[in-house]
Amino acid sequence: MKKKDILLIAGLLIAALLLYLVSLITLGTEAASVVVTLDGEEVLRRPLAVEDTYEIRQEDGSVNVIAVEGGEVYMAQANCRDGLCIRQGRMKNAAKTIVCLPHKLVVKLSGEPIAQEDNDLDVIIQ
Ligand SMILES: [Zn+2]
Repeated sequence: MKKKDILLIAGLLIAALLLYLVSLITLGTEAASVVVTLDGEEVLRRPLAVEDTYEIRQEDGSVNVIAVEGGEVYMAQANCRDGLCIRQGRMKNAAKTIVCLPHKLVVKLSGEPIAQEDNDLDVIIQ
């Protein structure tokens, strides 16, 4: 075998490995955390892997209870006037959002994992 051929094979192997790594990263964009924003400001970020419920209370008496269960997130309770956020059901796809328009609250899923030090707030009182 010539040196050129070895280089070619090595190059192909490296290219295949790179493709494999890229596909791993792309598949890894699956939702990893739940992000809640109020009027565009992030108030909560939690791992999707942790089953819990988060109560978001606002000064005007608005309450939303967001539940994380089995890798999915949904609006468990809300005292908004239309109740549309509850009817939006469960989501586990990062492309979807749950919006509570009367409360200016948005629940999103993010592919980014959470830094450990962000994990100390359970209830946000605004
Ligand atoms: Zn709502």
